[in-house]
This record gives sequence, C-alpha cells and structure tokens, in this order.
Amino acid sequence: SYEKLQNIRQSRLNPALATYYSKPLALHQGYKQWLFDINGKRYLDLLGGICTVSVGHCHPKITAAVNSQMDTLGHVSNIYYHPKLHEYAERLTDKMPGELKVVYLVNSGSEANDLAILLARLYTNNFEVLSLTNCYHGMSPQTMGLTSLGAYKYCIPQPPGHHHVMNPDVYRGIWGGANCRDSTVQTTRTCNCSSNFCEASDKYFDQVAIQFDHNIPKGHVAGFFAESIQGLGGIIQFPKGYLKRVYELVKKNGGVFISDEVQAGFGRTGDNFWGFQGHDFTPDIVTMAKGIGNGYPLAAVVTTPDIAKALTKASHFNTFGGNPVACSVGISVLDIIEEEKLQENSKLVGTHLLSELAKLRSEFPIIGDVRGKGLMIGIEMVNPGTKEPLQSKKFLKFFDTCMNLGVLLGKGGVYGNIIRIQPPMCITKEDADFTVAVIKHALQSD
Ligand code: PMP
Repeated sequence: SYEKLQNIRQSRLNPALATYYSKPLALHQGYKQWLFDINGKRYLDLLGGICTVSVGHCHPKITAAVNSQMDTLGHVSNIYYHPKLHEYAERLTDKMPGELKVVYLVNSGSEANDLAILLARLYTNNFEVLSLTNCYHGMSPQTMGLTSLGAYKYCIPQPPGHHHVMNPDVYRGIWGGANCRDSTVQTTRTCNCSSNFCEASDKYFDQVAIQFDHNIPKGHVAGFFAESIQGLGGIIQFPKGYLKRVYELVKKNGGVFISDEVQAGFGRTGDNFWGFQGHDFTPDIVTMAKGIGNGYPLAAVVTTPDIAKALTKASHFNTFGGNPVACSVGISVLDIIEEEKLQENSKLVGTHLLSELAKLRSEFPIIGDVRGKGLMIGIEMVNPGTKEPLQSKKFLKFFDTCMNLGVLLGKGGVYGNIIRIQPPMCITKEDADFTVAVIKHALQSD
C-alpha cells in the first residue's frame, strides 16, 4: 500500500530524495513509453527515468539479452577476454568520429566524468578544469567540483582546480536576445544574427577567454567540460559557433575538450547520434551514461589512443565496468536504435512536438520559452509578461494536473521552473499531440 511505501521512504531512505508531486506516485510496471502505477493507471513517460530509458521500458530484446547473458556468464571482470566486451567496444567506438576509438566502460555518468578529469590531467600534465554554470556532470567528490547545479558548494570546500564559466544561456543570460540557432531548430524567438558567430556567441566566448587571461595560469589548463545541450540546467542550447571556438581556445592553451553526452547522446537530438556533432567539432574525450544502457548501470568514456595511453602511468581498474551483462545491454540498445530508427523518430516527433509547443507559447504568456532539439525539449515557465521564474506552488499544481491526466514530465533549471521533456525515443506523433493537449488543459485549468 501507499502508506507502507511512504513509511519506508520516510524512515529508511535518503531524506534528500525529491519528488515532483504533492502526492507520492508509486510506479509498478513499464512498457515502451508507458508507465503504470500500483493501481494500474497508465502514464505517458516523458522523462524516461531522467533521460535514461532511451529505447523504451522493458524492451523485450533487452530483457532477452540480459536473461541469456545471465544464463551464460554474469561476471568475470575485465582481467579476462570475453566476447561481449570486445564486441561492444567495437560497436560503440564505430559510432564515434575520427580518432575517438578507445573506450573505458564504467557504471555511471559521475564515474565517467571522474575518469575524464583524470585522463585530462594525466595527458596534459595540467590540473585546472573548467565547466559551465548551470551544468551537471555528477555527484562524486570530483565531479561535484564540475557540477554547478545542486552541489554542496555552500557547505563543504570544493575540490581544488575547478573553475566555472558563465553558460551561454540566450534566454536568461545577461546577453540574451541576440539568439543564434541552427536553422533546423524550431524556436519561438527570432534570430538576430547572420553568421555562425552571433553577438551572443561572441560575448559568451569572451567569458572563457577572460578565464584564461586572468584565472588560469598560462599553460595550466587540463580540460574544459561541457554538455552539448545542458540537460538538468534546463535544456539550454548554446549559440552556434560557441562550442567550436571554446574547443579551439582550450586546445591553444594546452588543454583537452570533454563533451558530456550523458543526456544529448545516442540519437536523442535527432540530426546526429552525438550532440557535439551539431557543433562542427570533434572533442578529445566523450563521456556517456544514462541512455547508453536504457536503465542498466552502464557508462563509458571514449577518447583517442594517444590520450588513452596516459592511463598506463598507473593501473586503472573498474570491477564492474564492461561486465558481460552490461555489454549485452549496450549492444541491444545500439541494435534497437538502428532497427527501430529511433534517432530518426527523435527528429520527427521532436520537431513536431517543439513546433506545437511553440504555438502554445503564443497563446499562454506563462510560457516564456520553448527550446530544444529532437527529443530534448525545455519549456521555461515564467510569471506572465516577465522572465521571473514561475512560483513553485503554481508549478507544483501544474505538474499534479498533468500527472492526473496521465503525463509525467521532468523539471530542471536553477530555479526549477523549466519543464523537461526527454522521453523514451519511441514516442509517437500521437503521444506528442496528447502531451500538448494535456499541457494546454493544465494551463487552462490554472
Ligand atoms: N552528466 C550529465 C549531463 C548528467 O545529466 C548526469 C546525471 N544527471 C551525470 C553526468 C551524472 O550521471 P550519474 O547520475 O549516472 O552519475
């Protein structure tokens, strides 16, 4: 019963756990883009276990792969050769451009980014790492230094060698307005720029240059971390040209560029398999988690053979990383994305949903912005006529209404006022229309 679950939650589980709703929601079952609560009520899942269930809940192909692997060989560690590890290493790195051909398999996004920090420092022999405000890269002691959102910044000293640069948020940032977007991206605001290097891009880029001029001793940078689209930060897309220029500047200063593809990777953005590919450059290190395993604990770091060599300065080992079951899941996820054309579906359904939501924005001034790419969509909720974040009480009521109507949404942003839509990539156009209808109804009943 709910009461029993609630008692255990309150007395035995991490008290920092949050919920989006005024009443707890106890889920029991999942199938594709659908979730069912313990009373059998069905919900359209638009958060996908926090952008993780990429190919759908309880996909039969993954279940079969896990069962078969568990029946054959569950774990041996990567001291030994095993075919699934080797097959997966090849399959995953085949998806990467250029020299990015060496993979380390780990279990979570935080671990992947921890390892990327280590690789960047060992390879460059430098220590300083940079990341953007509003970013999320993990909650381990090291990645907490990268993470800007929700970390324990104010109560414990941060790990040394971490620097934050202002994120190029063209809606809420101090140089908002001069928006420059890829023409394939539907946006509700007009683009004022005529080139790749719009005014906003220039100004935000200058912030990175200032860090190098003033805060990081010359020749001391190890790496720059960025999500290609900020996820938890509120689906923040960067002005065109920005990431490429930062990449060039970081390289010029002796560092490496790390693209965190934990949310934007695996076809979610529609046009490309990796988010960075929409920005016209190839990073030195790519980290990935979440969608890579459809809910199974699997994550990875991919880099060049040259950078990878840096880890041989000491031993590097991860007990579970690349275990046969995880690799079987990883292979199945890649198969399913291809077989079911989920990247193409992300583009098709995401573009449709984005344009329908943009129409809602013109009807409801409570919607300040609609943005995103593929099935990575953000809706910024404001007090009408302003950019002030919508009061949390109103937002809670909105979430409750959507939940009652059978739609589960995500939340993000520094102020927690951004709706995040990052569903399993198998959702349909009809699901998108249902979502818009539910959001509209929830806004009207406010
Ligand atoms: N990077 C990004 C972009 C993320 O969104 C997250 C998780 N929200 C992480 C890293 C950390 O992943 P994990 O929770 O698996 O450690």
